[in-house]
Amino acid sequence: MFSRPNRKAFRKTVGFRLALWYSGIFIFSSVLLFGFSYFNISSSLRKQDQRAIESELKELASLYEMGGMDFIERKLTVHRKFEKEEPFLVRVGDATNETLLLILPNQWMEFDIKDLKQISSNSSITWTPLHNRNSKNAFEVGSIRLPDRHVLQVGRSIEDRERILAHFRTNFLLITVPLIVLAFAGGAFVAFRALRPIRHIIGAVRSAASGRMDTRVPSTGTDDELGELVTLFNQMLKRIEALMQGMRDALDNVAHDLRTPMTRLRGIAEIALSSDEGPDACRESLAECMEESERILKMLNTLMDISEAETGAMKLELQRVKVCDMLKHIVEVYDYIAEDRGISLQMQCKRGLWIMADPTRLYQIISNLLENSLKYTARGGRIDVAATAKDAEVFVAVRDTGIGIREKDLPRIWDRSYRCDQSRSQSGLGLGLSLVKAFVEAHKGHVEVSSQPGKGCTFTIALPAAH
Ligand code: ADP
Repeated sequence: MFSRPNRKAFRKTVGFRLALWYSGIFIFSSVLLFGFSYFNISSSLRKQDQRAIESELKELASLYEMGGMDFIERKLTVHRKFEKEEPFLVRVGDATNETLLLILPNQWMEFDIKDLKQISSNSSITWTPLHNRNSKNAFEVGSIRLPDRHVLQVGRSIEDRERILAHFRTNFLLITVPLIVLAFAGGAFVAFRALRPIRHIIGAVRSAASGRMDTRVPSTGTDDELGELVTLFNQMLKRIEALMQGMRDALDNVAHDLRTPMTRLRGIAEIALSSDEGPDACRESLAECMEESERILKMLNTLMDISEAETGAMKLELQRVKVCDMLKHIVEVYDYIAEDRGISLQMQCKRGLWIMADPTRLYQIISNLLENSLKYTARGGRIDVAATAKDAEVFVAVRDTGIGIREKDLPRIWDRSYRCDQSRSQSGLGLGLSLVKAFVEAHKGHVEVSSQPGKGCTFTIALPAAH
């Protein structure tokens, strides 16, 4: 169902780009960290070397001050007696930096002394790094000009320092290269996995675009944003599917329900056309056609309203409605008809009841129930409209003492076009209660009916109260 991205397309994926970003940031931070540590280690090792050279320089300089070159030579000879190897290069040059004394440790053997001559020096220590041209050896030389303008130079091999730093560099590369590969692969894997719901959604959108609305995105099973997106997306697909199915059903129902009245209409017109009874009969047929087409129009409108309400496509103009005022208004309208038919119409309403409803639709709901009660209640009967509240709901009940509904019919009275046998003598489309149910449910309410055949019935609608 979902297409797998090929290799070329993979490079264009968000997952790949994210992985590149991860690795880029990772490499950058590693290099930064390495650079920082490398700089710190290298400068502290250098300082350590310089401290050693500096103390040797100072010691030799004070010896020179005390007894000249002899003192320096004597110290170095004594030192050589006890130590196997001399760690420092020591050179004393005259004012023009011509060598007067030179002590050269073994590592310096291949070293070109000319390099030392070129170092300029002054009263404070000058640091010069030197590299041996013939070997890999590197050195650090500290030079100072003595009070008599002679030059004193002390040098030390920095081979150990270089070895430590080289070791550090190799280790860094050995660790970092596999880490970068791992970071890229891990990043790509995590990004690919994390974006799986998005790929599923793309697949679902493709299916929906090709007309398959029953496609659903597999749940991620997580509580995060992607999980929420998948849930909402599936809800949306479900809703669109329900809407489309609703539209299809509505069309089927309309087609089915219109067939009979349309055939009747056509029949009346055909008879009128084929009869030769004169203009009066034709006028009568035309009047019948008018009546029938009005009925069809009403049916069509009602069916469309029901479908809209059932599929959720109906736009409700919700507002706070004071229940008693609304009921009072409707009862006043129907009171005349009730009086005309010899039926007593009463109203009891608990004060202070408010609901959130579309007043026009609410009016249609109550009038439909009242019209039914008036239709199915005989002269001398009674209709009661009562409004009460319980918990967060407001209940409006329309009770009558009419013909009632048989128990077997009760579950079916909400169906479209269903009419009970005993009410066939009354006019009606069989759509009133379907409309009531659809409208009430569109208001997030519910309807109930209870009845005792021959004694009457009670229709109750429950709607959420507004505070
Ligand atoms: P109709 O146009 O036939 O009244 P409705 O959908 O309003 O269509 O009602 C469906 C059926 O339910 C009616 O045909 C009738 O048999 C029954 N019914 C509805 N209201 C009442 C009532 N107050 N008393 C008795 N029967 C009723």
